[in-house]
Amino acid sequence: QAKQQHRGSSEYFSPAMGTDARERFKLLKGLRAGFEENRLFVVYQPQVDLLSGKPIGAEALLRWRTEDGKFVPPDQFIPLAEKSGLIISIGEFVLRTACHQLKHMIELGYADFRMCVNVSLAQFRHPDFMTVVNDAMRDIGVAGRNLELEITESMAMEDTELVMHILANIKKLGITVAIDDFGTGFSSLSHLRQLDVDRLKIDRAFVREAQTSTAGSTIAQMVINLGRGLGLTVIAEGIETEEQRSLLLDLGCHEGQGYLFARPMPADQLENWMSQTKAGAE
Ligand code: C2E
Ligand code: MG
Ligand code: MG
Ligand code: MG
Repeated sequence: QAKQQHRGSSEYFSPAMGTDARERFKLLKGLRAGFEENRLFVVYQPQVDLLSGKPIGAEALLRWRTEDGKFVPPDQFIPLAEKSGLIISIGEFVLRTACHQLKHMIELGYADFRMCVNVSLAQFRHPDFMTVVNDAMRDIGVAGRNLELEITESMAMEDTELVMHILANIKKLGITVAIDDFGTGFSSLSHLRQLDVDRLKIDRAFVREAQTSTAGSTIAQMVINLGRGLGLTVIAEGIETEEQRSLLLDLGCHEGQGYLFARPMPADQLENWMSQTKAGAE
């Protein structure tokens, strides 16, 4: 099945393509090489309780450092990895790396640590997906209750029957699910109600606008009310200021992540951040 996915990459060889396509192909070649030569790695951005400031867990975010030391943003290379099918193996790498880090955090005594991993549509729909997740958990020795998968709003709406089926299997493992970038897609509310998810993640565009415009804060309030009405937890991403933190708390959102608390950081720094922040909160 994985082979079939990789076949899609041949489309990049089309001679009729312009510079953009050639650029993309070069980037994809570099990404493949980078992946094989271990230049892809995972950083972790802490998530906190907005009221107490206590750490809840972290989101695993992929990074690619090219041979000449430059960083290519995930927003540029993830879509390429998705189109080419490379995301299947890269996604498994992220999941397993994050599970190892999760295991480490639990061994350090953070028994309730929640490790959140972004999952692409191609991964999610792949027939081997549940096996990949199951094997990672078993091999590495982590429990589903410490693991959260983030799917985007558009993914959740894609093919509701299939999505519901996959979600049911994920839930059987005790894994929680969050809908990422919530508010940017066009969710059908009746579909959303049918989906067995645990958390809505408010897109950072609304966090920013909540502070600067009435429309922005109205949308943030609506998303928070919607989530709470459906019995879901709501988390806000991209919190950069103290004002945003207190505004979100006022609106009824109790979890968040953003530069105000911590930037995405390498694994070794996460430990330090956790121990310092835990101490600071007590
Ligand atoms: P996302 O999942 O919505 O991740 C949150 C993004 O917001 C991250 O960008 C993070 O660094 C950034 N961010 C967090 N706090 C702040 C803040 O206070 N201010 C601002 N301006 N930005 C903040 P990043 O790491 O560049 O990732 C971008 C996107 O790439 C992610 O958005 C996700 O969609 C995708 N991505 C990253 N890693 C993975 C992965 O392993 N697998 C998949 N499928 N997608 C990934
Ligand atoms: Mg995410
Ligand atoms: Mg997001
Ligand atoms: Mg995003």
